[in-house]
Amino acid sequence: MTPPVRTCLGCRVPGPKSELVRLIWQGPTLEIVPDFAQNSPGRGAYLHPSYKCVEKGSRRVRGALRIPGTVDWRTVSEPWADLRAFIATSVPVERDQVQTDENK
Ligand SMILES: [Zn+2]
Repeated sequence: MTPPVRTCLGCRVPGPKSELVRLIWQGPTLEIVPDFAQNSPGRGAYLHPSYKCVEKGSRRVRGALRIPGTVDWRTVSEPWADLRAFIATSVPVERDQVQTDENK
């Protein structure tokens, strides 16, 4: 069996589901949260655990999660701070790349 594949919301490159971070919208509490276990019900959006993909994906997540236009977007809390912290602690390669870019 081939592993399930999902497309990253940031770079649009498909990859194994297990290598992507799933985001879900918790409608009633108006929060978008990372679903690290990938087993929460509902529509999910997937992102590489990468600063670049999080940055790009943050502009597309509303549509990807089909959040209705009637929802006041300003009341929806977003997961980006959580995700950046997650990337910083769990993806050392990415952190090194960021530092290298800054040093140029
Ligand atoms: Zn990506």
